Parts: sequence; C-alpha cells; structure tokens
Amino acid sequence: MNIGFIGTGAMGVPMVANLVKAGFSVVAYDIVPAALAAAVACGARAVGSTVEAAKAGDLVVTMLPSSSHVVKAYLGDEGVLEGVAPGRLCVDMSTIEPATSKLVAETARRRNVRFLDAPVSGGVPGAVAGTLAIMVGGDAADLEEARPALAAMGKNIIHVGPVGSGEVAKLCNNLIAGVAMVAVSEAFRIAEAFGLDPRVLTEVVSKSSGNTWAMEHNHPVPGLVAKAASSNDYAPGFTTDLMAKDLGLAVNAAREQRVPVVVAPAAQQVLRLASSHGLGRKDFSAVYTFLKPSGGEAPV
Ligand code: NAD
Repeated sequence: MNIGFIGTGAMGVPMVANLVKAGFSVVAYDIVPAALAAAVACGARAVGSTVEAAKAGDLVVTMLPSSSHVVKAYLGDEGVLEGVAPGRLCVDMSTIEPATSKLVAETARRRNVRFLDAPVSGGVPGAVAGTLAIMVGGDAADLEEARPALAAMGKNIIHVGPVGSGEVAKLCNNLIAGVAMVAVSEAFRIAEAFGLDPRVLTEVVSKSSGNTWAMEHNHPVPGLVAKAASSNDYAPGFTTDLMAKDLGLAVNAAREQRVPVVVAPAAQQVLRLASSHGLGRKDFSAVYTFLKPSGGEAPV
C-alpha cells in the first residue's frame, strides 16, 4: 500500500520510518528540504509537492504544525484535496482546532474523500518506538481501513467519536501535560531556592501525591532523568511553541463551550513568555530555565 505522507518534521520522520519498517511504501513531502531529506534517509520516496504526495497515496497521512498549515495543505491551491482520488481516506495526525478538522472533513466529504482526525501523544520517543497513543475522530469503518497504518506508528489506538473528537481528547490531555510541566518547574525552583537537593525532592514527589508524568519522564531539571530533554540541552522533544499552541487550543475550546478555565491560560502565558525569551524551539520543559529566582534583597 502506498502512503502519501505530508509533514516530515520531528514526529513525521520517525513515523515514516515505522511505516517503511512495517512494509508500507511511503511517498513523502515537506516544504523544508532538510526535513524531506530525513524522510528519504528512512526509506521514503520524495516528491516535490503536496498534490503529488496526495495523488500517490492509497492513504494520505498529514503531520503538520497547526490549524493554518492543515487548512493550507488540504484546502489550498495544489493541496491534498486537488490530488487525492475520490473515495480515498485522509488521516490528519496534527494537533489542531477541532473546528478545523470538521471544516476539512466536510470539504473533503463534498469531494467524496473521507477524513479522520487522529492526533497523537507520546512525543518523539513514542514516535521512534512506534508506541504513540492515537486518538481518532471519525467513522469507525474508516478507522478500520486506516488501522494497519496507524498500528505501525502507535500502540494504543482509541476511537473517541465523530470527526473533531480526537482533537478534543488531545487538547484536554495537553492541557493537563502543559500545566503539570509549569507546576513541576515552579516547585523545583522554590525547593532549590531553599537549598533542597532536586534529586531528593524528586524522590519525595515520586512517592507522594504530586507525582506526575512530566517529572517522571520529562524532568525539567537537567541530569535527573537521562532520557529527558533537559539532560540534552532541552533539545525537543516537544517545543515550547507547540505546547503554548496546544494550551491555546484548550483555552479556545473552553471559551467555545463557556467552560471557565483559569490555570490553562496562566500556564500558556508562562510558556509564551519563555518563548519570547528565546526558548520557543527548545523542549517545553525549558520553561524551568526561565523561572529563575530574581535574586537580590527586594521585599517579597
Ligand atoms: P515539526 O514542526 O517538527 O514538523 C512539522 C513539519 O511540517 C515541518 O517539517 C514543516 O516544514 C512541515 N510543513 C509545514 N507546512 C507544510 C506544508 N504545507 N506542506 C508540507 N509540509 C509542511 O512539528 P512536530 O513536532 O513534528 O509536530 C507535528 C504535529 O504533531 C504538531 O501538531 C504537534 O503539536 C503534534 N505533536 C508533536 C509532538 C512532539 O513531541 N513533537 C507530540 C505529539 C503531537
């Protein structure tokens, strides 16, 4: 089976590699030549445009940064919907606005093209290991058609509901993950300012009610968890800009449904500030480096 894969960045490349390993033939496109070259190094064949990748795919998979990229890639000139054959299935695995998934799905449906939203969790390590959690919105029969390809990239494939609901599940998950990382970073900064050894605090929290995935797997303090981005100069991983985007998706969704949210917007602004201080392309755990004590003798 040919898969047209569009968007071969930090996540897309290892996902392509796993599709190739599972025996799929992958035709890839990315607007950044270096990103496309990385997919070719994993066994994909490169094409020169979105429309060519869409034409070549029995199944089309997209893994793009945000809603505007997905709109452009599907609905723009020379986009996916101009290339994909009627009757085919497209799977967008980007994290975007649920409303954008619905818009693309509806436009595709009018052209007799089927669409699933299937965002993922697990980060680059999960993409490399082929163990991503994949949350799917759309028709159950379409999910069954996509399942062999999804199973090459992920382990837990969960059908959430109709189109857009995979994205809702994803933004709820990332609201928790983003807020937790800011909370862990604040806690460790306070403890360090009081002279506590972060290794000892990690041991305490890991046995206590504050334990969280953010600390266990992506500890913001360097040198405590070997596989954490912090131990590799905060190389992403999942960038500060992407997490700020995802918290924004959660805040927008809350506004749409008139749900009061207080903690998510605060965490988003902390990440935006970190980004404006040059940490946007670093892993989002680098927010810890931004929360330095101000020092001095100022009154508290
Ligand atoms: P990335 O920026 O590394 O990769 C996205 C790629 O899309 C880039 O190479 C970019 O050049 C390409 N692109 C943009 N517009 C394009 C277009 N019109 N046509 C073709 N290519 C285009 O981002 P990433 O980290 O791979 O994340 C991709 C998506 O997955 C995002 O929505 C992100 O929120 C989500 N996600 C990322 C992680 C993670 O840990 N990185 C984890 C879970 C979910």
